[in-house]
Amino acid sequence: MTPNKTSIYLDHAATTPLDPEVLVAMMPYMDGSLSFGNASSIHSFGRYARAAMDTAREQAADLIKADFSEIYFTSGGTESDNLAVIGAMNAAPAHKNHLIVSAIEHHAVLHAAHFLESQGYEVTILQSDSTGLISPEALQSEIKPTTALVSIMHANNEIGTIQPVEELLTVCRQNGVLFHTDAVQTVGQIPVQITSLPVDLLTFSSHKIYGPKGIGVLYIRQGTKISPQAFGGTQEREKRPGTENIPAIVGFGRAAELTAARRECDNISIGNMRQFLKTKLSELVPDIHFNGNQEHCLSSILNVSVNGVEGATLLMNLDRMGVAASSGSACSSGSIEPSHVLKAIGLNRDLASSGVRFSLGRKTTVEECGEAAQIFAEIVSRIRQ
Ligand code: PLP
Repeated sequence: MTPNKTSIYLDHAATTPLDPEVLVAMMPYMDGSLSFGNASSIHSFGRYARAAMDTAREQAADLIKADFSEIYFTSGGTESDNLAVIGAMNAAPAHKNHLIVSAIEHHAVLHAAHFLESQGYEVTILQSDSTGLISPEALQSEIKPTTALVSIMHANNEIGTIQPVEELLTVCRQNGVLFHTDAVQTVGQIPVQITSLPVDLLTFSSHKIYGPKGIGVLYIRQGTKISPQAFGGTQEREKRPGTENIPAIVGFGRAAELTAARRECDNISIGNMRQFLKTKLSELVPDIHFNGNQEHCLSSILNVSVNGVEGATLLMNLDRMGVAASSGSACSSGSIEPSHVLKAIGLNRDLASSGVRFSLGRKTTVEECGEAAQIFAEIVSRIRQ
């Protein structure tokens, strides 16, 4: 099945299209014209592959102003989050068995935390305010002498709220606790630089910045102890064994380089379009709610709820009318479970079930936003009648 060619794609927080320049960079490592080698091999095929990987590592490091040696390639954001949370807890001294994560984390962090709890670790789930913000004071009040790690995302993937990570990091520093942030939604959109945000661990992913899928990075500050979660090779300095996916790594590196050059400009135009979409929706849809913090937010994500209309119904109708959006709700045991994020910020079941996320990208146009708002309004009005 191929998507409708006239589709308006407003789901960039789920994934972004591959940048054609990224594909150009990857091709010689897929067709083997530059190298199909294994980066661990001693011969020239291997050396070419390793050189390409080194360049990509430099490009990824440069994007977040980190050191080359602190970049570890993984299979994506999910694996990086798991490696950060489980790896740091496993490597902590025995008496440091307490982990704090926020209630609005991506499941890659939340489910890793639940797994650790099942293994006997103590886990605190920190609540946010009604806009999705985590307060540094609330974090401080949960830290104990046994706390080893705090994991709080940089910006939320459903509602776009950007956390006060600098302040949260300060709380961790003052208490001698490690800090991990899932920056999958922010790297590539807003400046995320280790030089000014010196976290211990940071996750980012290629397919959110117009790179290929299935490749991500865990930034690990030098000296931070992490236990590997897979075994059988010495790759990635024994933190993440397995033959490296060179074409994907090369693509990720190129995407990082292109993003660094385009980010600022993209962000301004995407922010203007978000504002336009929001204004149009406010004009056209009575009783529409905008979820998440509207000041400290990503310029690309607009999350809305409309009373009395299921998000899944809205999404199916949008899709039928050529608009691709998404919601955080999940189908579980035959019923639709509202998004854990919308529930965590205190929306009632009705509003939480009706959440729809529009996420804009580089190629989104004002015309598309206007059309999407019009279509959304028509659907809501039809269903409400
Ligand atoms: N963390 C956040 C905030 C995300 O938005 C996502 C993906 O949507 C992930 C982690 C998982 O990343 P990946 O799809 O690369 O596994």
